[in-house]
Amino acid sequence: MERGLDSRPTPMYSSCPVCHATGLKGLWEVNGYTIARCSACFLVFVQNEVTAGELAAHYASIEAEADVYDQPNVECLNYYYRKLADMIRRRFPQPGKVLDVGCSHGWFLDVMKDWECHGNEIVAADAQAARERHGERIVTGSFEDYPLREGYFDVITLQDVFDHLRYPMPALEKCRRMLRPGGLIVIKVHNISCLYARLMGSSFYAIVPPSHLFFYDRRTLTRVLSDSGFQVVESKFIGHVLKMKTVFLRLSRGRQRSPFYRAYRALDDTALGEIKVRKNLHDIITVLAVKAA
Ligand SMILES: [Zn+2]
Repeated sequence: MERGLDSRPTPMYSSCPVCHATGLKGLWEVNGYTIARCSACFLVFVQNEVTAGELAAHYASIEAEADVYDQPNVECLNYYYRKLADMIRRRFPQPGKVLDVGCSHGWFLDVMKDWECHGNEIVAADAQAARERHGERIVTGSFEDYPLREGYFDVITLQDVFDHLRYPMPALEKCRRMLRPGGLIVIKVHNISCLYARLMGSSFYAIVPPSHLFFYDRRTLTRVLSDSGFQVVESKFIGHVLKMKTVFLRLSRGRQRSPFYRAYRALDDTALGEIKVRKNLHDIITVLAVKAA
C-alpha cells in the first residue's frame, strides 16, 4: 500500500478539481498521498495527480493480496440492494433500462431483473461472472471507454465507484448524456462528514488512497451533481448488514499487524464471526438525483 520510495513524486493539484478555488488545506498524509480539503467548497480529495499506470499497479497488487480484503457476501449486500431497488421502484413503477457502473458480479442487477439490465465492470473476471446471468449487456472495461448511448437509460447507478474515479466531473457529464430527460442517477459513497469519520480522522476506514481518491458528504455530492446538470431529489443513509468478522476486518483496514486483523483471523470460520450485525453509522450515503431539463 505504501508508495515505493523510488516512485517519482507525482504532480499535485494546485486548485480544487470541482470548483477550481486555489485555497487548499492539507489534512493528512496516508499511504504516501496527501489528502486536502478545498476551503471554498469543502471537497476532500487526494491532492496528488494519480496516474492511470499507478492505479493499475495498485489494483493489481490488491488482487495479489486479495486475502486481506473483504470477500463479498451476497446475502449481506442484498440487504442494501433491495432497499435501493425499492427506492428506485417508487419513482419508476414501470420497469425501464438500468445501467450499473462498476457492477461487479451483477448482484444489484439481479434484484432489478424485471428491468433491461446493463452493466459495466473493469475487472474482467467479475464482468464475466455478471455476463453469465446478464449476457452481452455487461461491458468489460473502464466507464471512460463505455459506449456512449445518448438519452438511453432511465437509471444509472454508481455504487462504491464514484469515489474511486480520477475524473468525477467528466463521468457525471457522460451519465447525464446517457440518461433520458427525467432520468435518475444514483451515487453511493462513504460519508466523510459522519460523526464516526470525524472521530476517526485519517483512521476512518474509507481513507484508503489511492483506492479512494475523493471523500464526499451530502454537501459536496450535491454540489458536484448540481454543477453537472442534476437536481438531488433524495439522500439517505441506508444501513448495512455485516458479518461480525467483517466488522473487524474493516477496522483493521487490511493491515495485518493491526490487533483488529488478529481479531478478524480469530473469528474467521467461527460461528461468532458469522453472526450478522446491522450497522448504520451514517458512514454510507446514497444520493438520488434527476437529470435537469
Ligand atoms: Zn472546491
